[in-house]
Amino acid sequence: MPILILGGTADARRLAGLLVSAGYDVVSSLAGRTREPLRPPGRVRIGGFGGVDGLVHYLRDERIDVLVDATHPFAATMSEHGAAACGALGVPHLVVRREGWSASAGDEWHRVASLDAAARLIPQLGRRVFLTTGRQGIAAFAGLDECWFLARSVEAPAGTVPRRLAVLLDRGPFTVEGERRLLAEHRIDVLVTKDSGGSDAKLVAARSAGVPVVMVDRPPPPRGPVVATPEEAVGWLSDVAAR
Ligand code: NAP
Repeated sequence: MPILILGGTADARRLAGLLVSAGYDVVSSLAGRTREPLRPPGRVRIGGFGGVDGLVHYLRDERIDVLVDATHPFAATMSEHGAAACGALGVPHLVVRREGWSASAGDEWHRVASLDAAARLIPQLGRRVFLTTGRQGIAAFAGLDECWFLARSVEAPAGTVPRRLAVLLDRGPFTVEGERRLLAEHRIDVLVTKDSGGSDAKLVAARSAGVPVVMVDRPPPPRGPVVATPEEAVGWLSDVAAR
């Protein structure tokens, strides 16, 4: 039963590991955005499929029996393509989306619908901004000359960037203590993040430092069954295999 995992996340790598250990034939697909991606266990293919039609051809040519979309919650285009291609072929399709974050007592969160909305809000909240939204979205903040930005990403941002920008190249996981130090060293007065879920070290640090958070909401998941963890996905897949 060949399984295609749409990946690029820690959960996708973990799922590939669980499935390979259980003896499934797995191919993980990565977009090819980073030069040195963390490779999941099992077979790996890299690069876009060429839209929905390209993915339909791939699923047919490779005789894929099941597609698991374990992409990042903000990879909405790939997720839509996965759902559409599986719908066209009648291939079973599962989405793995870890839970988003929720605010706790002491948090000052401002939920917004997009990076552009985050950029509009920032000047009302602070001037020294910690951007953890990934390098692809940095252009949205380019017009804010009154603010200084610290942007953390795995690889350097390209294209249009804010005029006053320091880049910190780093890859998680991060610790609460490390995040606290970073906020203090750079005198950060506002944190911007997407609601990715997972480790909340930066959010805990922001809470204890009294730093407001601009939280960009997730796009809705594609239609069809959704589970929150790789372990639940394995359970779903063993049910499909038993049919
Ligand atoms: P996206 O906007 O949803 O997708 C744009 C196009 O990139 C897709 O139409 C597809 O090209 C290609 N693509 C995306 N993910 C792919 C995959 N896993 N395998 C093969 N092709 C893929 O995607 P994105 O937001 O740029 O994210 C790209 C990758 O980075 C995803 O794998 C995602 O899991 C990972 N990631 C994203 C974020 C984020 O904040 N968006 C954060 C961490 C990791 P074709 O149309 O040619 O098939």
